Amino acid sequence: MATVYLGLGTNIGNRKENLTRAIEALSLALGPCTAQSSFIETAPWGFDSDNPFLNCAVAFETELTPLLLLDTTEKVERELGRTTKSSGGVYHDRVIDIDILLYGSAIVETPRLTIPHPLMHLRNFVLEPLAEIAPHTIHPKTGKSIEQLKTELGCSKMVKKD
Ligand code: ADP
Ligand code: MG
Repeated sequence: MATVYLGLGTNIGNRKENLTRAIEALSLALGPCTAQSSFIETAPWGFDSDNPFLNCAVAFETELTPLLLLDTTEKVERELGRTTKSSGGVYHDRVIDIDILLYGSAIVETPRLTIPHPLMHLRNFVLEPLAEIAPHTIHPKTGKSIEQLKTELGCSKMVKKD
């Protein structure tokens, strides 16, 4: 069993419902969600959009391998109506994005999957909710805790929605 942390984001439609539905669908596939952060409103990162994001972080226990877990999260993205994928650093509005942030203390580097998520330590919208549920968890690439990474990045103003 591995403890996995997922980062969820949405910036179109009923965002609160999108996050709730995604967590329900993930629970059906993986078993109960063992920790859930609050929902946090954040500005689009890496692209221009008038639609702010709602983000959260969640934890599950799973026996799935990292790649099977990615299959599962991508299936849930499609079930919720996501059609476009980002590629080459080009981002779009999305009904749901599910990123695998941490998979226990594993380091995975394959063409399809990088864990820890390669940009998580640079993103407040990831570290802020993740620090609520896993402040002392160690990021295996940097050897630093999530709380420490968040402090180092500096906190931008974020609005808690729940
Ligand atoms: P982004 O989340 O950066 O907006 P996408 O959700 O469209 O982009 O994902 C782009 C690709 O990132 C996916 O096809 C997936 O194979 C790859 N990927 C690599 N590492 C991860 C990870 N840790 N979690 C989720 N997707 C990942
Ligand atoms: Mg993604």
